[in-house]
Amino acid sequence: AKAAGRNTICFFQPEMQEAVTARSALEADLRSAIGNHELLLFFQPVVNEQSRLTGAEVLLRWQHPVRGMVMPGEFIPLAEQTGLILPVGNWVLETACEQLVRWGAQPATRELTLAVNVSARQFRQVDFVATVLGVLERTGARPDRLKIELTESLLLSDVEDIIGKMTALKAHGVGFSLDDFGTGYSSLSYLKRLPLDQLKIDQSFVRDVLTDPNDAAIVRTILALAESLDLAVVAEGVETAGQLDFLRRSGCRAFQGYYFSRPAPVEAMMAGIGAAGGV
Ligand code: C2E
Ligand code: CA
Ligand code: CA
Ligand code: CA
Repeated sequence: AKAAGRNTICFFQPEMQEAVTARSALEADLRSAIGNHELLLFFQPVVNEQSRLTGAEVLLRWQHPVRGMVMPGEFIPLAEQTGLILPVGNWVLETACEQLVRWGAQPATRELTLAVNVSARQFRQVDFVATVLGVLERTGARPDRLKIELTESLLLSDVEDIIGKMTALKAHGVGFSLDDFGTGYSSLSYLKRLPLDQLKIDQSFVRDVLTDPNDAAIVRTILALAESLDLAVVAEGVETAGQLDFLRRSGCRAFQGYYFSRPAPVEAMMAGIGAAGGV
C-alpha cells in the first residue's frame, strides 16, 4: 500500500507535467515548422564497390529557431503519434523529388537515385499511392530514380494492402528497400511475398562485424539470403576501412556510412564524395 501511495505521488510529480508541456510545445512548433521553412534535408551518399556515388538517402533535419538542429529521433516519433508525419512526409517526398529533377538535368548526375524514408503511418494512408504519383507528376522527377525505404514495423498491418500499394508504385518504376533489416518483425515468408528490390543491413550488425562472430555470421546470412531472393543489399553504418573490406569480401556491393560521408546538405555531399571517390 505504501508502494502504491508512492507511485501515485510519483505520477503527479511536477517534472512529468513539465515533460507533457514540453511535448505539446514541441508539437505546436512542429506544426508550424513546414510553413516556417525550418525543415531541411540532409543527404548521405550510397556508393558501389568502387566507392563511386550511385545515389543518396535523404535524412530529415529540423532547424528549430531556439533549440537548434533537432534530429529525427527526437521528433519523428512525435510526428507519427500526432499525424504530423503526413504533411512532414509529403514535404520530404516533394523536396526529394525536386532534387531528383535538378540531378536529372545534368549528365553527370542524371542516374543518381534518392532514397526516402516512409513511416508505416504514411504508407498506410489509403491515398498513399496517389500522393506519391501526384508528387512525381508535379515535380517531373523520374519514378525509377526514387526509392522508398520501409521498415519492418509496417508488416504489422495488412500484408495484401502493402503488396497492392508496392505493386502499383513499382509499375511506375519506383523501387523499394526494407530498412534496418534483421532488427524487426520480418519473417522469411514476408520477404518472399513482398515485391522488394533491396535490403538494408542494419548498422547494429555492421558495427561489430570484425569482432563479433555472430554479427559476421548474420551479415553473411543476409547477403546469401538476398542473393537467392535476387535482392540488392546496402550495408548501413560503415565507419571503417576494415568493415568495408569485410563487407566487400562477403559479397556486399553497396555501402553507406560515415566512412564515406556523414549526412550533409546536398552541395556539401557532392563536394565531399568527389574528394572521397575511389577510396
Ligand atoms: P535510418 O533510416 O536507419 O537512417 C540511418 C541513420 O543512421 C541516420 O540517422 C544516419 O545519420 C545514421 N548513420 C549513417 N551512417 C552512419 C554511420 O556510419 N554510423 C552511425 N553510427 N550512424 C550512421 P538520422 O539522420 O539521425 O536518422 C535516424 C532515423 O530517423 C532514420 O534511420 C529514419 O528511421 C528516421 N528518419 C530520418 N529522416 C526521415 C524522414 O524523412 N521520414 C521518416 N519517416 N523517417 C526519417
Ligand atoms: Ca533509412
Ligand atoms: Ca536504416
Ligand atoms: Ca537504423
